[in-house]
Amino acid sequence: MNVLVINAGSSSLKFQLLDTQTGTVFAKGNCERIGIDGSFIGYTLNGEKGTLEVEMPDHRTAVGHVFDLLKGVDAPIEGIGHRVVQGGWYFPESAVVTDETLGWVREVAPLAPLHNYAEADVIEICRDMFPDLGNVIVPDTAFHYNMPEHAWRYALPRDVVDKYHVRKYGAHGTSHRYIWRTVNEFLGGEAHKVVSCHLGSGASLCAIEDGRCKDTTMGLTPLDGLIMGTRCGTLDPATVFYLYREAGMSIDEIDTMMNKQSGLLAVSGVSSDSRDVIAGMEEGNNDCKVAVEMFTYRVAQLFAEMAASMEGVDTMVYTAGIGENSDYLRAAVAERLGWMGVKIDPELNAVRSDDPRVISTPDSAIKVLVVPTNEELMIALDVEALLG
Ligand code: AMP
Repeated sequence: MNVLVINAGSSSLKFQLLDTQTGTVFAKGNCERIGIDGSFIGYTLNGEKGTLEVEMPDHRTAVGHVFDLLKGVDAPIEGIGHRVVQGGWYFPESAVVTDETLGWVREVAPLAPLHNYAEADVIEICRDMFPDLGNVIVPDTAFHYNMPEHAWRYALPRDVVDKYHVRKYGAHGTSHRYIWRTVNEFLGGEAHKVVSCHLGSGASLCAIEDGRCKDTTMGLTPLDGLIMGTRCGTLDPATVFYLYREAGMSIDEIDTMMNKQSGLLAVSGVSSDSRDVIAGMEEGNNDCKVAVEMFTYRVAQLFAEMAASMEGVDTMVYTAGIGENSDYLRAAVAERLGWMGVKIDPELNAVRSDDPRVISTPDSAIKVLVVPTNEELMIALDVEALLG
């Protein structure tokens, strides 16, 4: 089935048209600066890269341009899958778009206002412009929906929790689900207790026992857990009250600081990109060194937390930009987990490949893998399962 996967943001719209049977990607691209001057679409069509400078005052115009571009591909669109950041308390799994399910995406939007409103608008636009095509909602939180209550519940008064739906929702669920599926297939059913380490500019770990999420490091929002490119990760929550009262910062300023000006960027003082931070460390910059140490310390610490949630772990999987590419950070985290019996083979760790691969030694107590994630394929497969 040829599925168009759409990942809409407030000022961008990523797309990919792929075949679920072969995994062939016919086209992909990103509409950037929607609603802002200088908007353009960077794309790859039939293997050829291009850029289209077009006005995109709104998402409707962007969707129109994407469909026009896709006319240049010999693969008729048979269904559309929409990545939705927050499924809230409604989506234990992906769902076909109806008035009701689209209403749910809007109802839970206060939990992810920068994403859900734009995503809901784009779903509506697609339904409206192409009424013959089926649309599917694929929430990034769905995989975490059935975590045990002791993992998702926050120790806050029950009336507040219930009225405002304050709980752990997690994120990157579509990636973690793809990782489980791939590892299960690759290891022939040998993996049972897996910690999926999605380490990109956003980063989260997920404890997966026989395909079910037991816990994850992101919380009510994707700010929780690990130190990320520009996000601080877990802090004492009282830090917010302290800064509000003593530093005179507004809630919006604290929000922006913690999401956009913290993490590797703040500690290194150099960059949010792990490559720049590692390069800085190698040149002797001590702030970069501390940033790298904090990052690997937190990944190792939360890895052990995820293992505890399953009372064991047999498989560790690295994925996303850092997990797939940084042999240095993979080795540095593994070294901190030496006490758990993790041993990686330096030669296997140095291999560069787009295929799933084992990088641990045969005597490692925990098998360590690198598996490139593919959220778009996972979304497309959900569309096929629900519409095909
Ligand atoms: P993502 O959000 O998954 O695209 O990941 C972005 C992160 O991946 C950035 O911190 C990059 O530094 C890191 N990354 C991407 N490519 C490489 C690479 N070849 N080596 C090391 N880190 C990389």
